[in-house]
Amino acid sequence: MEQRKVILTGDRPTGNLHIGHYVGSVASRLSLQEKGDFDKFYILIADTQALTDNADNVDKVKNNVIQLAIDYLSAGIDPSKVDIVIQSQVPELAEMTMYFMNLVTVARLNRNPTVKDEMKQRGFNAGLPAGFLCYPISQASDILAFGANIVPVGEDQLPMIEQTREIVRAFHSTYNCNIFSLPQAVLPENKACQRLVGTDGNAKMSKSLGNCIFLKDEPDVVKQKIMNAYTDPNHIKITDPGKVEGNVVFAYLDAFCKNEHFAKYLPEYANLDELKAHYRRGGLGDVKIKLFLNNILQELLSPIREKRKELEKNLDQIYEMLFENSKKASEVARDTIAKMKDAMGINYYKFLSK
Ligand code: ATP
Ligand code: MG
Repeated sequence: MEQRKVILTGDRPTGNLHIGHYVGSVASRLSLQEKGDFDKFYILIADTQALTDNADNVDKVKNNVIQLAIDYLSAGIDPSKVDIVIQSQVPELAEMTMYFMNLVTVARLNRNPTVKDEMKQRGFNAGLPAGFLCYPISQASDILAFGANIVPVGEDQLPMIEQTREIVRAFHSTYNCNIFSLPQAVLPENKACQRLVGTDGNAKMSKSLGNCIFLKDEPDVVKQKIMNAYTDPNHIKITDPGKVEGNVVFAYLDAFCKNEHFAKYLPEYANLDELKAHYRRGGLGDVKIKLFLNNILQELLSPIREKRKELEKNLDQIYEMLFENSKKASEVARDTIAKMKDAMGINYYKFLSK
């Protein structure tokens, strides 16, 4: 039997989507959606996971569930092809997590490099919530509950996919079964898109770091953020040679700029290599490259912003779609739990004489 192609990806509802999400995962989702080569495609709004470091800030998570759904739809996710699901409305995921937790050591969780970074960022020491340390396990449940084998993500998620694969192997060998397929991460091909830097030059644009350009930002806000972006601190006079590496504007150009943008907005250069060479030589000012980037991002973001304004007029319809999808997803997850319990031997109903 040919393997079903099931795609699953998601985001934490801790803020609106930013351009890092766009290149890191939304763009791959859109191209997978257009290719149509899948049996099922889920996008999970990971509110349960978001609560692992926001337990006392439920309002933030709750309000961002609908924000995220609007972001997806305005960016072009088509609800007739993709099921957008709310994680907390699929309680089976929590049940699966309980069983998987027994197959992963605390030492292994502590070694997860992304979680390590995030713990440092959040200043968790003795105050580390157990739920936060375990979120890679709950992420494994999200993937495995729906039989997902293709997971389009940014680079920071690779350790989570590896953890999921380890859980699959541990479950199969512990309970002598073969019920899960091994998920594969799909990274954007363009290296610059795998981990987009923040406007402040930080290695990752992240909601938690406040260094984002959001898809919903108004044109003047986008422009302001670009004009303030970190470039090369030693490039003081226009005539000074400039550095392209570590320069946020060039990092964004690497991710978003296509040759046709030059013809449209900066015809004196044929491509990004020429622009970089001029910057390195000296004689090219930051304002010029920032205005060029601004044109490119405004072109990308303007239709998304317009669509969002339309969608905001009918939130009920979006909520209904989310509830409906979550109910269906719950049924799928229930089947998976049944298989797991059979494999584990905790299928007590079999003891009934009739
Ligand atoms: P938080 O700070 O709340 O963790 P986040 O900005 O890291 O938020 P997530 O919801 O954790 O966003 O990530 C959702 C998806 O977006 C993941 O697949 C992640 O790899 C991808 N992603 C997030 N930030 C970036 C980025 N700067 N560049 C590329 N991909 C990213
Ligand atoms: Mg994150």
